[in-house]
Amino acid sequence: MVEATEIVKIYGSFKALDRVSFDVFDGEKVVIIGPSGSGKSTLLRSINRLEVIDRGRILVDGIDINAAKTDITKIREEVGMVFQSFNLFPHKTVLENLTLAQIVVRKRSRQDAEERAMALLERVGLAEKAKAYPGKLSGGQQQRVAIARSLAMDPKMLLFDEPTSALDPEMIGEVLDVMKSVAREGMTMAVVTHEMGFAREVADRVIFMDAGRIVEEGTPEHFFTAP
Ligand code: ADP
Ligand code: ADP
Repeated sequence: MVEATEIVKIYGSFKALDRVSFDVFDGEKVVIIGPSGSGKSTLLRSINRLEVIDRGRILVDGIDINAAKTDITKIREEVGMVFQSFNLFPHKTVLENLTLAQIVVRKRSRQDAEERAMALLERVGLAEKAKAYPGKLSGGQQQRVAIARSLAMDPKMLLFDEPTSALDPEMIGEVLDVMKSVAREGMTMAVVTHEMGFAREVADRVIFMDAGRIVEEGTPEHFFTAP
């Protein structure tokens, strides 16, 4: 699904990514860990071109996302992203948050979009919040809406950038539960998180970054089993 080769991202004179090679196979769940500032977020954001890399190559589903002829909106339809800060539209209801892109980008009818949206809101346990505005929801609820909104586009892959880091502790579990259910359904996922329990339970592979490089990579057993 993703094949990144020797990618470099430079801010000024600082190498946020230093020749990182990174693959994600179809259906695989990769968890990326490492200290703050090690380049985890930059790596994720490079995969759907929220950041443009300076060197190297990134193929998503076989397409070079930085090639001049590539339609990046197509890539972003296939690769959804969930952020630390939810990024819902504050002046749209929960239901509208879920239907907008389906109608505008996927060209679905309002009725189809609303049916899909309601099914997903059921799934994340928030059907009764369909008419509410995001500001009325807790952080955990907003993040569950954000995940449902990503799923509404039927992506081939989801990127999660510290999805629980902005949440009060008591809300982390409900968001991780939704992510686990997405994982069980076979979604290809790359997740930056500090939640080691999630990594241990869900990851096929864990990647440890430090100072813009991947310094270790292996199964959760490799990372979390005492020698
Ligand atoms: P992580 O997600 O591992 O915490 P990031 O990928 O967010 O790390 O950041 C890696 C480094 O790049 C950090 O030192 C950060 O300050 C720097 N950085 C990220 N974005 C920018 C930017 N737009 N301009 C300058 N420096 C940046
Ligand atoms: P997150 O942790 O949610 O990824 P950050 O606080 O690391 O968010 O970064 C938020 C935004 O600020 C990103 O667009 C990132 O590229 C930018 N940024 C991060 N570090 C720097 C920096 N040192 N200088 C300029 N921009 C930065």
